[in-house]
Amino acid sequence: MSKTDFDAVVVGSGPNGLAAAITLQRQGKSVLLIEANNKIGGGLRSEELTLPGFLHDVCSAVHPMASVSPFLKSVPLEDYGVDFIYPDVSIAHPLENGSTAVLTRSLDYTAASLGEDRQAYLDLMTPILKDWPKLTKDILSPLLKIPTNPRAMANFGWLGLSSAMRLSRRFKTPEAKALWAGMSAHSMQPLSKFTTSAVGLVLQATGHVKGWPLVIGGSQRIADALSAYFTSLGGKIETGFYVKSLSQLPSSKLIMFDVTPRQLLEIAGHRFSRSYQWQLKKFRYGMGVFKVDWALDAPIPFTAADARRAGTLHLGNTIEEIQASEDAAYKGRHVQRPFVLLSQPSLFDYHRAPAGKHTAWAYCHVPGGSTVDMKDAIESQIERFAPGFKDRILASHTFNTEQLQAYNPNYIGGDIGGGVMDIRQLFNRPALFSPYRTGVKGIYICSSSTPPGGGVHGMCGFHAAKRALSDVFGIKID
Ligand SMILES: Cc1cc2nc3c(=O)[nH]c(=O)nc-3n(C[C@H](O)[C@H](O)[C@H](O)COP(=O)(O)OP(=O)(O)OC[C@H]3O[C@@H](n4cnc5c(N)ncnc54)[C@H](O)[C@@H]3O)c2cc1C
Repeated sequence: MSKTDFDAVVVGSGPNGLAAAITLQRQGKSVLLIEANNKIGGGLRSEELTLPGFLHDVCSAVHPMASVSPFLKSVPLEDYGVDFIYPDVSIAHPLENGSTAVLTRSLDYTAASLGEDRQAYLDLMTPILKDWPKLTKDILSPLLKIPTNPRAMANFGWLGLSSAMRLSRRFKTPEAKALWAGMSAHSMQPLSKFTTSAVGLVLQATGHVKGWPLVIGGSQRIADALSAYFTSLGGKIETGFYVKSLSQLPSSKLIMFDVTPRQLLEIAGHRFSRSYQWQLKKFRYGMGVFKVDWALDAPIPFTAADARRAGTLHLGNTIEEIQASEDAAYKGRHVQRPFVLLSQPSLFDYHRAPAGKHTAWAYCHVPGGSTVDMKDAIESQIERFAPGFKDRILASHTFNTEQLQAYNPNYIGGDIGGGVMDIRQLFNRPALFSPYRTGVKGIYICSSSTPPGGGVHGMCGFHAAKRALSDVFGIKID
């Protein structure tokens, strides 16, 4: 790499690296974005993983957080080719008893799918949805600060800090408990843990506020749009360059790392104070995922009608089964019936497969670092709710946790959230009171290992860039 001066260098082009690069470049700073992979995007890539003509999202596929992200709203994504499609049913959660709980944009329709728990669901969600415009800013920011709206945040925090198991006691029916368990299991922790409710509430709220969209043509389109916008502002991108040490980088006033604490220590650890090194070493990674993509001869034959029209499915039957699955993965065990998160994008987007054919994307949580092949277990869980599914498979592709980490070094042990999001690391992410600063002038971290954590929203990158703009250049932005 040639030694050129830049105002800022950003290492890693996931949604957070891209968000940081854009936020800096927008302020007239010259920015170089460096990516190890030959393609930009991190968790936002789409490829023909199975057969020619079948386009699969390698990592993220469903975008509830992108749809409510203030940063992404500030970028003219549509002008750069991003077309979000919102399935009528965001989530379908079929149960073995033949009923199906659904999450749709309509609060009433969703509540009605929960039978006797209709009112309990309305009581839980109505105040949160009323406060949502005030809550978004605080929820998608570092939490250790005075909230912009203390009352709304106090109400949300009171519920969100509790465990999903505890909050599930508000419900009586298996449908409401199961829907709630599936939403909260995105926290990648046993549902008995504090703060698992926060994840469930946020994701449930996004379903009513906007819905859970897919991107026409695949998630890669978001990365392509962000990079095109960045270069239109004058930003530079270099791909296929794996950064191992600070000495490889061109000179700059600021370096922003879209990597997790373990990688940051390897690259720049010698520059950090002992206490910051200690905090990074203590940072904990969570469960991993085992992922499968399929090319299919026909749509998945779900028994439940609502499941056949849902963008995303939660397949884990009851709250008890989901809790058992998450608890096992957390404690290092594998179960025969894992909780499966599945998306069927080709139902809504004809770009994903040849005419009449289909794709599906799914994963389950497994112990960090697991190399156990969960393909059969995942397929059997789908077959349970869609008899005949296995007969429709033309080809499949799998990733275990080691392969995921080899694909993207940020997925340590297959952890797709950038580190466990328990009560400690909700606030201490990756360091207390200074989430983006490293203590060394001009070096920052901006990945999902910082607040507000995992998911495609770019808010970690935005907040890190905002901090750095103020510290290094004296520029304050909102
Ligand atoms: C299977 C799977 C399914 C998911 N599903 C969803 C979903 O449906 N919805 C959702 O919102 N989120 C989902 N996620 C999570 C989401 O993808 C991540 O939370 C998000 O991508 C994190 O963004 P990031 O910018 O912090 O890091 P990443 O997207 O991981 O990007 C980091 C980038 O940095 C690069 N890099 C790392 N180290 C170096 C180095 N030393 N030198 C140069 N480059 C480097 C990497 O190659 C990578 O491109 C999923 C993730 C996976 C793996």
